[in-house]
Amino acid sequence: MEYETIVGLEVHAELNTKTKIYCNCRNAFGLEVNTQICPICTGMPGTLPTLNEKVVEYAVKMGHATNCTINNVCKQDRKNYFYPDLPKAYQISQADIPLCEHGYVDVMMNGIEKRIGITRIHIEEDAGKMLHNDAFQGSLVDFNRCGVPLIEIVSEPDMRSSEEAKAYLDTLKSILQYLDISDCKMQEGSIRCDVNVSVRPKGSDKFGTRCEMKNVNSFSAAMRAIDYEAQRQIEALERGEVIVQETRRWDDAKGMNFTLRTKEDAQDYRYFPEPDLTTIYVPMEKVEALKAEIPELPNAKIRRYVKELGLSQTDAQLIAENLPRCRLFDECISLGGCSAKNAANWVLADVSKYMNDTGRDIAETNLTAEKLVKIISLIEQGKISNSSGKIVFEEILANDADIEKVIEEKGLAQISDDSAIERIVSEVLAANQKSIDDYKNGKTNALGYLVGQCMKASKGQANPAKCKELVLRALEG
Ligand SMILES: [Zn+2]
Repeated sequence: MEYETIVGLEVHAELNTKTKIYCNCRNAFGLEVNTQICPICTGMPGTLPTLNEKVVEYAVKMGHATNCTINNVCKQDRKNYFYPDLPKAYQISQADIPLCEHGYVDVMMNGIEKRIGITRIHIEEDAGKMLHNDAFQGSLVDFNRCGVPLIEIVSEPDMRSSEEAKAYLDTLKSILQYLDISDCKMQEGSIRCDVNVSVRPKGSDKFGTRCEMKNVNSFSAAMRAIDYEAQRQIEALERGEVIVQETRRWDDAKGMNFTLRTKEDAQDYRYFPEPDLTTIYVPMEKVEALKAEIPELPNAKIRRYVKELGLSQTDAQLIAENLPRCRLFDECISLGGCSAKNAANWVLADVSKYMNDTGRDIAETNLTAEKLVKIISLIEQGKISNSSGKIVFEEILANDADIEKVIEEKGLAQISDDSAIERIVSEVLAANQKSIDDYKNGKTNALGYLVGQCMKASKGQANPAKCKELVLRALEG
Protein backbone atom coordinates (compact mmCIF):
# COMPACT_ATOMS: atom_id res chain seq x y z
CA MET A 1 0.00 0.00 0.00
CA GLU A 2 1.14 3.54 -0.65
CA TYR A 3 1.17 5.98 2.25
CA GLU A 4 1.08 9.73 2.62
CA THR A 5 2.96 11.58 5.38
CA ILE A 6 1.18 14.38 7.24
CA VAL A 7 3.29 16.94 9.08
CA GLY A 8 2.40 19.81 11.40
CA LEU A 9 4.98 21.97 13.16
CA GLU A 10 5.13 24.02 16.34
CA VAL A 11 7.99 26.47 15.98
CA HIS A 12 9.42 28.35 18.95
CA ALA A 13 11.36 31.49 18.01
CA GLU A 14 13.22 33.58 20.56
CA LEU A 15 12.57 37.28 20.06
CA ASN A 16 15.53 39.66 20.03
CA THR A 17 14.14 42.28 22.40
CA LYS A 18 16.72 44.06 24.58
CA THR A 19 15.15 42.83 27.82
CA LYS A 20 13.22 39.76 28.91
CA ILE A 21 9.44 39.40 28.67
CA TYR A 22 8.46 40.12 32.32
CA CYS A 23 11.50 41.85 33.90
CA ASN A 24 14.34 44.21 33.01
CA CYS A 25 17.05 41.56 32.80
CA ARG A 26 19.09 41.54 29.63
CA ASN A 27 17.98 39.17 26.89
CA ALA A 28 21.36 37.96 25.65
CA PHE A 29 22.92 34.63 24.78
CA GLY A 30 26.25 33.23 25.91
CA LEU A 31 26.88 35.26 29.08
CA GLU A 32 28.24 33.86 32.34
CA VAL A 33 25.68 31.47 33.86
CA ASN A 34 23.12 32.95 36.28
CA THR A 35 24.23 36.57 35.80
CA GLN A 36 21.19 37.82 33.81
CA ILE A 37 18.64 37.04 36.50
CA CYS A 38 16.50 38.80 39.11
CA PRO A 39 13.83 37.83 41.65
CA ILE A 40 11.12 38.03 38.94
CA CYS A 41 12.62 35.69 36.35
CA THR A 42 13.80 33.26 39.04
CA GLY A 43 10.26 33.07 40.41
CA MET A 44 10.76 34.45 43.93
CA PRO A 45 7.52 34.55 45.96
CA GLY A 46 5.86 37.95 46.04
CA THR A 47 7.37 39.27 42.80
CA LEU A 48 5.13 40.57 40.03
CA PRO A 49 5.70 40.36 36.26
CA THR A 50 5.32 43.37 33.93
CA LEU A 51 4.77 42.59 30.25
CA ASN A 52 7.40 43.96 27.84
CA GLU A 53 5.40 45.89 25.23
CA LYS A 54 7.96 45.13 22.50
CA VAL A 55 7.18 41.41 22.74
CA VAL A 56 3.56 42.11 21.80
CA GLU A 57 4.64 44.41 18.95
CA TYR A 58 7.04 41.80 17.52
CA ALA A 59 4.40 39.06 17.72
CA VAL A 60 1.79 41.28 16.03
CA LYS A 61 4.29 41.95 13.22
CA MET A 62 4.80 38.23 12.74
CA GLY A 63 1.01 37.84 12.73
CA HIS A 64 0.70 40.43 9.97
CA ALA A 65 3.54 38.87 7.96
CA THR A 66 1.77 35.49 8.10
CA ASN A 67 -1.67 36.87 7.22
CA CYS A 68 -3.17 36.23 10.67
CA THR A 69 -6.14 37.80 12.39
CA ILE A 70 -4.82 39.86 15.31
CA ASN A 71 -6.72 39.41 18.58
CA ASN A 72 -6.03 42.89 19.88
CA VAL A 73 -7.73 41.96 23.15
CA CYS A 74 -6.31 38.76 24.63
CA LYS A 75 -4.94 37.32 27.83
CA GLN A 76 -2.08 35.33 29.26
CA ASP A 77 -2.37 32.01 31.08
CA ARG A 78 -0.35 29.84 33.42
CA LYS A 79 0.81 26.50 32.11
CA ASN A 80 1.73 24.44 35.15
CA TYR A 81 4.40 21.76 35.18
CA PHE A 82 7.38 20.77 37.28
CA TYR A 83 10.87 20.76 35.88
CA PRO A 84 14.13 22.02 37.40
CA ASP A 85 14.65 24.62 34.65
CA LEU A 86 11.31 26.28 35.49
CA PRO A 87 11.71 27.94 38.92
CA LYS A 88 8.11 29.24 39.15
CA ALA A 89 6.78 25.74 38.32
CA TYR A 90 4.62 27.39 35.69
CA GLN A 91 5.25 29.05 32.35
CA ILE A 92 3.29 32.15 31.40
CA SER A 93 1.84 31.45 27.94
CA GLN A 94 -1.45 31.95 26.12
CA ALA A 95 -4.06 29.21 26.09
CA ASP A 96 -7.47 29.72 24.51
CA ILE A 97 -6.98 33.23 23.05
CA PRO A 98 -3.67 33.64 21.22
CA LEU A 99 -2.49 37.06 20.02
CA CYS A 100 -2.66 35.96 16.36
CA GLU A 101 -4.57 33.16 14.58
CA HIS A 102 -6.00 31.85 11.28
CA GLY A 103 -3.12 32.86 9.01
CA TYR A 104 -1.02 31.26 6.29
CA VAL A 105 2.29 31.44 4.49
CA ASP A 106 2.97 30.61 0.86
CA VAL A 107 5.94 28.31 0.60
CA MET A 108 7.90 28.00 -2.62
CA MET A 109 9.24 24.55 -3.46
CA ASN A 110 10.85 23.73 -6.82
CA GLY A 111 9.12 26.74 -8.29
CA ILE A 112 5.69 25.61 -7.09
CA GLU A 113 3.85 27.61 -4.46
CA LYS A 114 2.01 25.86 -1.65
CA ARG A 115 -0.09 27.48 1.06
CA ILE A 116 0.53 26.28 4.64
CA GLY A 117 -2.05 27.29 7.24
CA ILE A 118 -0.98 28.97 10.47
CA THR A 119 -3.30 27.93 13.29
CA ARG A 120 -2.02 30.44 15.83
CA ILE A 121 0.88 32.51 17.10
CA HIS A 122 1.12 33.19 20.82
CA ILE A 123 3.64 34.79 23.15
CA GLU A 124 5.27 32.97 26.07
CA GLU A 125 8.41 32.87 28.19
CA ASP A 126 11.34 30.51 27.75
CA ALA A 127 12.60 28.23 30.53
CA GLY A 128 16.17 27.98 31.85
CA LYS A 129 18.74 25.51 30.63
CA MET A 130 19.95 22.32 32.27
CA LEU A 131 23.71 21.87 32.17
CA HIS A 132 25.12 18.41 32.47
CA ASN A 133 28.72 18.35 33.56
CA ASP A 134 30.67 15.17 34.19
CA ALA A 135 32.54 16.86 37.06
CA PHE A 136 29.32 16.92 39.08
CA GLN A 137 27.04 14.20 40.24
CA GLY A 138 23.77 15.35 38.69
CA SER A 139 22.88 18.50 36.80
CA LEU A 140 23.19 22.25 37.17
CA VAL A 141 20.77 24.85 35.89
CA ASP A 142 21.39 28.21 34.23
CA PHE A 143 18.48 30.62 34.68
CA ASN A 144 19.73 33.26 32.18
CA ARG A 145 17.24 31.97 29.59
CA CYS A 146 14.28 32.10 32.03
CA GLY A 147 11.91 34.76 30.79
CA VAL A 148 13.47 35.16 27.34
CA PRO A 149 10.50 36.04 25.10
CA LEU A 150 9.27 33.45 22.62
CA ILE A 151 6.60 33.28 20.00
CA GLU A 152 5.16 29.87 19.25
CA ILE A 153 3.97 29.50 15.67
CA VAL A 154 1.63 26.53 15.24
CA SER A 155 0.94 25.30 11.71
CA GLU A 156 -1.99 23.32 10.35
CA PRO A 157 -1.14 19.70 9.37
CA ASP A 158 -0.66 20.91 5.79
CA MET A 159 2.77 19.53 4.95
CA ARG A 160 3.14 16.24 3.09
CA SER A 161 6.87 15.51 3.27
CA SER A 162 10.04 16.39 5.13
CA GLU A 163 11.05 18.56 2.14
CA GLU A 164 7.87 20.61 2.49
CA ALA A 165 8.49 20.96 6.20
CA LYS A 166 12.02 22.20 5.49
CA ALA A 167 10.73 24.71 2.91
CA TYR A 168 8.15 25.95 5.43
CA LEU A 169 10.81 26.32 8.15
CA ASP A 170 13.11 28.19 5.75
CA THR A 171 10.24 30.53 4.87
CA LEU A 172 9.44 31.25 8.52
CA LYS A 173 13.11 31.85 9.24
CA SER A 174 13.50 34.35 6.44
CA ILE A 175 10.33 36.20 7.49
CA LEU A 176 11.68 36.44 11.07
CA GLN A 177 14.95 37.79 9.66
CA TYR A 178 13.24 40.31 7.38
CA LEU A 179 11.17 41.57 10.32
CA ASP A 180 14.36 41.66 12.43
CA ILE A 181 12.53 40.20 15.43
CA SER A 182 14.70 37.12 16.02
CA ASP A 183 18.40 36.32 15.69
CA CYS A 184 17.50 33.03 14.03
CA LYS A 185 20.77 31.52 15.22
CA MET A 186 20.04 27.82 15.10
CA GLN A 187 23.27 26.90 16.89
CA GLU A 188 22.18 29.08 19.84
CA GLY A 189 18.72 27.52 19.89
CA SER A 190 16.94 30.71 18.73
CA ILE A 191 14.55 28.53 16.71
CA ARG A 192 13.39 25.13 17.95
CA CYS A 193 10.50 23.00 16.86
CA ASP A 194 8.12 20.26 17.91
CA VAL A 195 7.19 17.99 15.03
CA ASN A 196 3.83 16.21 14.61
CA VAL A 197 3.75 13.30 12.20
CA SER A 198 1.05 10.88 11.07
CA VAL A 199 0.60 8.68 8.01
CA ARG A 200 -2.44 7.51 6.09
CA PRO A 201 -3.13 5.41 2.98
CA LYS A 202 -2.75 7.56 -0.12
CA GLY A 203 -6.12 8.87 -1.25
CA SER A 204 -7.66 8.73 2.23
CA ASP A 205 -9.06 11.97 3.62
CA LYS A 206 -9.00 10.85 7.27
CA PHE A 207 -5.97 11.69 9.40
CA GLY A 208 -4.06 8.86 11.07
CA THR A 209 -3.02 8.93 14.74
CA ARG A 210 -0.24 11.42 15.23
CA CYS A 211 2.93 11.30 17.28
CA GLU A 212 4.75 14.37 18.51
CA MET A 213 8.52 14.74 18.71
CA LYS A 214 9.81 17.36 21.14
CA ASN A 215 12.77 19.70 20.92
CA VAL A 216 14.14 19.15 17.48
CA ASN A 217 17.04 21.57 17.25
CA SER A 218 17.77 22.11 13.57
CA PHE A 219 15.90 22.11 10.29
CA SER A 220 17.92 19.18 8.96
CA ALA A 221 17.23 17.24 12.18
CA ALA A 222 13.52 17.99 11.66
CA MET A 223 13.73 16.39 8.20
CA ARG A 224 15.48 13.31 9.58
CA ALA A 225 12.98 13.06 12.45
CA ILE A 226 10.00 13.27 10.06
CA ASP A 227 11.36 10.65 7.66
CA TYR A 228 12.22 8.30 10.52
CA GLU A 229 8.84 8.66 12.24
CA ALA A 230 6.83 8.24 9.02
CA GLN A 231 8.77 5.07 8.21
CA ARG A 232 8.30 3.75 11.78
CA GLN A 233 4.53 4.29 11.57
CA ILE A 234 4.25 2.71 8.10
CA GLU A 235 6.17 -0.38 9.24
CA ALA A 236 3.96 -0.68 12.34
CA LEU A 237 0.79 -0.43 10.22
CA GLU A 238 2.14 -3.00 7.77
CA ARG A 239 2.65 -5.37 10.72
CA GLY A 240 -1.03 -4.86 11.58
CA GLU A 241 -0.28 -2.76 14.67
CA VAL A 242 -2.25 0.28 15.81
CA ILE A 243 -0.43 3.63 16.15
CA VAL A 244 -0.61 4.92 19.72
CA GLN A 245 -0.82 8.66 20.23
CA GLU A 246 2.29 9.57 22.17
CA THR A 247 5.12 12.03 22.65
CA ARG A 248 8.48 10.74 21.48
CA ARG A 249 11.99 12.06 21.99
CA TRP A 250 14.11 12.48 18.85
CA ASP A 251 17.74 11.51 19.36
CA ASP A 252 19.54 13.03 16.40
CA ALA A 253 22.90 11.40 17.19
CA LYS A 254 21.30 7.94 17.16
CA GLY A 255 18.94 8.84 14.30
CA MET A 256 16.05 7.28 16.24
CA ASN A 257 13.20 8.30 18.51
CA PHE A 258 11.93 6.84 21.78
CA THR A 259 8.66 6.96 23.69
CA LEU A 260 8.64 9.82 26.22
CA ARG A 261 5.05 9.57 27.37
CA THR A 262 1.83 8.04 26.08
CA LYS A 263 -1.66 9.51 26.06
CA GLU A 264 -2.40 7.79 29.39
CA ASP A 265 0.32 9.73 31.19
CA ALA A 266 -0.10 12.90 29.09
CA GLN A 267 0.69 16.06 31.01
CA ASP A 268 -2.21 17.99 32.47
CA TYR A 269 -1.01 21.56 32.40
CA ARG A 270 -3.96 22.88 34.48
CA TYR A 271 -4.10 26.12 32.46
CA PHE A 272 -5.74 29.08 34.16
CA PRO A 273 -5.68 32.85 33.49
CA GLU A 274 -2.53 34.53 34.83
CA PRO A 275 -3.80 36.54 37.82
CA ASP A 276 -0.74 38.82 38.06
CA LEU A 277 -1.11 40.32 34.57
CA THR A 278 -3.87 42.41 33.06
CA THR A 279 -5.62 41.80 29.75
CA ILE A 280 -3.49 42.58 26.72
CA TYR A 281 -5.03 45.41 24.74
CA VAL A 282 -3.48 46.71 21.54
CA PRO A 283 -5.42 49.67 20.08
CA MET A 284 -6.43 49.05 16.44
CA GLU A 285 -4.47 52.15 15.33
CA LYS A 286 -1.37 50.52 16.81
CA VAL A 287 -2.16 47.20 15.07
CA GLU A 288 -2.43 49.08 11.75
CA ALA A 289 0.72 51.13 12.41
CA LEU A 290 2.67 47.90 12.97
CA LYS A 291 1.35 46.55 9.67
CA ALA A 292 2.70 49.62 7.90
CA GLU A 293 6.17 48.81 9.27
CA ILE A 294 6.34 45.39 7.56
CA PRO A 295 9.02 45.50 4.83
CA GLU A 296 8.75 43.79 1.44
CA LEU A 297 8.76 40.10 2.41
CA PRO A 298 10.69 37.24 0.75
CA ASN A 299 7.84 35.95 -1.45
CA ALA A 300 7.08 39.42 -2.81
CA LYS A 301 10.78 39.91 -3.52
CA ILE A 302 11.05 36.59 -5.37
CA ARG A 303 8.09 37.50 -7.58
CA ARG A 304 9.59 40.94 -8.30
CA TYR A 305 13.05 39.52 -9.11
CA VAL A 306 11.55 37.07 -11.59
CA LYS A 307 9.04 39.44 -13.17
CA GLU A 308 10.90 42.74 -13.24
CA LEU A 309 14.56 41.71 -13.23
CA GLY A 310 14.31 38.53 -15.31
CA LEU A 311 16.08 36.29 -12.77
CA SER A 312 15.38 32.58 -12.74
CA GLN A 313 13.03 31.33 -10.01
CA THR A 314 15.91 29.46 -8.34
CA ASP A 315 18.29 32.44 -8.31
CA ALA A 316 15.53 34.75 -7.08
CA GLN A 317 14.73 32.37 -4.24
CA LEU A 318 18.38 31.83 -3.28
CA ILE A 319 18.92 35.58 -3.01
CA ALA A 320 15.66 36.42 -1.26
CA GLU A 321 15.94 33.75 1.44
CA ASN A 322 19.22 35.16 2.76
CA LEU A 323 18.91 38.68 4.12
CA PRO A 324 22.56 39.86 3.86
CA ARG A 325 22.73 38.55 0.28
CA CYS A 326 19.44 40.16 -0.54
CA ARG A 327 20.44 43.53 0.90
CA LEU A 328 23.63 43.56 -1.18
CA PHE A 329 21.78 42.57 -4.32
CA ASP A 330 19.03 45.17 -3.82
CA GLU A 331 21.65 47.86 -3.30
CA CYS A 332 23.49 46.85 -6.49
CA ILE A 333 20.23 47.05 -8.44
CA SER A 334 19.28 50.44 -7.04
CA LEU A 335 22.75 51.80 -7.86
CA GLY A 336 22.45 50.55 -11.44
CA GLY A 337 25.38 50.28 -13.84
CA CYS A 338 25.42 46.51 -14.25
CA SER A 339 22.95 43.88 -15.36
CA ALA A 340 20.71 42.23 -12.76
CA LYS A 341 21.68 38.79 -14.05
CA ASN A 342 25.41 39.46 -13.57
CA ALA A 343 24.82 41.01 -10.14
CA ALA A 344 22.83 37.90 -9.15
CA ASN A 345 25.62 35.62 -10.42
CA TRP A 346 28.27 37.45 -8.41
CA VAL A 347 26.16 37.55 -5.25
CA LEU A 348 25.30 33.84 -5.49
CA ALA A 349 28.76 32.63 -6.52
CA ASP A 350 31.75 34.66 -5.33
CA VAL A 351 30.10 36.61 -2.52
CA SER A 352 28.26 33.59 -1.11
CA LYS A 353 31.37 31.44 -1.33
CA TYR A 354 33.35 34.03 0.59
CA MET A 355 30.64 34.25 3.27
CA ASN A 356 30.44 30.47 3.60
CA ASP A 357 34.21 29.99 3.68
CA THR A 358 34.88 32.69 6.27
CA GLY A 359 31.60 32.70 8.18
CA ARG A 360 31.60 36.48 7.89
CA ASP A 361 28.68 38.72 7.09
CA ILE A 362 29.09 41.11 4.13
CA ALA A 363 28.45 44.07 6.41
CA GLU A 364 31.62 43.23 8.38
CA THR A 365 33.82 43.24 5.27
CA ASN A 366 35.26 45.91 2.96
CA LEU A 367 32.92 44.90 0.20
CA THR A 368 30.21 47.42 -0.64
CA ALA A 369 27.56 47.41 -3.33
CA GLU A 370 29.37 50.33 -5.03
CA LYS A 371 32.59 48.30 -5.33
CA LEU A 372 30.81 45.18 -6.55
CA VAL A 373 28.90 47.12 -9.20
CA LYS A 374 32.18 48.73 -10.31
CA ILE A 375 33.87 45.33 -10.80
CA ILE A 376 30.90 43.91 -12.70
CA SER A 377 30.57 46.96 -14.94
CA LEU A 378 34.31 46.88 -15.80
CA ILE A 379 33.87 43.23 -16.86
CA GLU A 380 30.73 44.06 -18.83
CA GLN A 381 32.58 46.85 -20.66
CA GLY A 382 35.43 44.45 -21.51
CA LYS A 383 37.93 46.53 -19.52
CA ILE A 384 38.95 43.60 -17.35
CA SER A 385 38.37 39.87 -17.80
CA ASN A 386 36.12 37.82 -15.55
CA SER A 387 39.13 36.16 -13.90
CA SER A 388 40.76 39.57 -13.31
CA GLY A 389 37.48 40.66 -11.73
CA LYS A 390 37.87 37.83 -9.23
CA ILE A 391 41.39 39.02 -8.39
CA VAL A 392 40.12 42.57 -7.78
CA PHE A 393 37.29 41.15 -5.65
CA GLU A 394 39.76 39.22 -3.49
CA GLU A 395 42.03 42.28 -3.13
CA ILE A 396 39.10 44.37 -1.90
CA LEU A 397 38.18 41.79 0.72
CA ALA A 398 41.78 41.22 1.81
CA ASN A 399 43.17 44.78 1.77
CA ASP A 400 40.29 47.14 0.98
CA ALA A 401 42.31 47.90 -2.15
CA ASP A 402 41.41 50.68 -4.58
CA ILE A 403 39.99 49.07 -7.71
CA GLU A 404 41.82 51.24 -10.28
CA LYS A 405 45.10 50.79 -8.41
CA VAL A 406 44.82 46.99 -8.30
CA ILE A 407 44.08 46.89 -12.02
CA GLU A 408 47.11 49.05 -12.76
CA GLU A 409 49.56 47.45 -10.32
CA LYS A 410 48.65 43.90 -11.32
CA GLY A 411 48.42 44.75 -15.02
CA LEU A 412 44.85 43.51 -15.26
CA ALA A 413 43.58 45.99 -17.82
CA GLN A 414 42.23 44.08 -20.75
CA ILE A 415 43.03 45.11 -24.31
CA SER A 416 39.76 45.25 -26.20
CA ASP A 417 40.89 47.80 -28.71
CA ASP A 418 40.71 46.23 -32.21
CA SER A 419 43.85 47.79 -33.68
CA ALA A 420 46.05 46.71 -30.74
CA ILE A 421 44.77 43.15 -30.93
CA GLU A 422 45.07 43.08 -34.72
CA ARG A 423 48.74 43.95 -34.38
CA ILE A 424 49.29 41.04 -31.99
CA VAL A 425 47.31 38.66 -34.22
CA SER A 426 49.31 39.47 -37.31
CA GLU A 427 52.60 39.02 -35.44
CA VAL A 428 51.48 35.64 -34.10
CA LEU A 429 50.21 34.47 -37.49
CA ALA A 430 53.45 35.50 -39.19
CA ALA A 431 55.43 33.34 -36.75
CA ASN A 432 53.16 30.27 -36.99
CA GLN A 433 52.76 29.32 -40.65
CA LYS A 434 52.56 25.61 -39.74
CA SER A 435 49.50 26.14 -37.55
CA ILE A 436 47.84 28.13 -40.30
CA ASP A 437 48.43 25.24 -42.73
CA ASP A 438 47.14 22.77 -40.14
CA TYR A 439 43.97 24.80 -39.72
CA LYS A 440 43.44 24.99 -43.46
CA ASN A 441 43.91 21.19 -43.63
CA GLY A 442 41.03 20.71 -41.23
CA LYS A 443 42.87 20.57 -37.90
CA THR A 444 40.53 22.97 -36.17
CA ASN A 445 42.31 22.75 -32.83
CA ALA A 446 45.07 24.85 -34.38
CA LEU A 447 42.70 27.80 -33.81
CA GLY A 448 42.90 27.31 -30.04
CA TYR A 449 46.67 27.18 -30.22
CA LEU A 450 46.86 30.44 -32.18
CA VAL A 451 44.47 32.26 -29.83
CA GLY A 452 46.56 30.97 -26.93
CA GLN A 453 49.71 32.39 -28.57
CA CYS A 454 47.97 35.79 -28.94
CA MET A 455 46.97 35.75 -25.26
CA LYS A 456 50.54 34.87 -24.36
CA ALA A 457 51.95 37.64 -26.56
CA SER A 458 49.62 40.14 -24.85
CA LYS A 459 50.69 38.85 -21.39
CA GLY A 460 47.14 37.70 -20.86
CA GLN A 461 45.72 41.18 -21.29
CA ALA A 462 43.97 40.76 -24.61
CA ASN A 463 40.25 40.19 -24.62
CA PRO A 464 40.10 36.43 -25.48
CA ALA A 465 36.81 36.68 -27.37
CA LYS A 466 38.20 39.53 -29.47
CA CYS A 467 41.40 37.56 -30.15
CA LYS A 468 39.46 34.54 -31.31
CA GLU A 469 37.26 36.66 -33.53
CA LEU A 470 40.23 38.38 -35.20
CA VAL A 471 42.32 35.19 -35.62
CA LEU A 472 39.31 33.49 -37.19
CA ARG A 473 38.72 36.44 -39.51
CA ALA A 474 42.40 36.33 -40.62
CA LEU A 475 42.34 32.56 -41.20
CA GLU A 476 39.06 32.54 -43.08
CA GLY A 477 39.84 35.72 -45.00
ZN1 LIG B 1 14.87 39.03 35.55
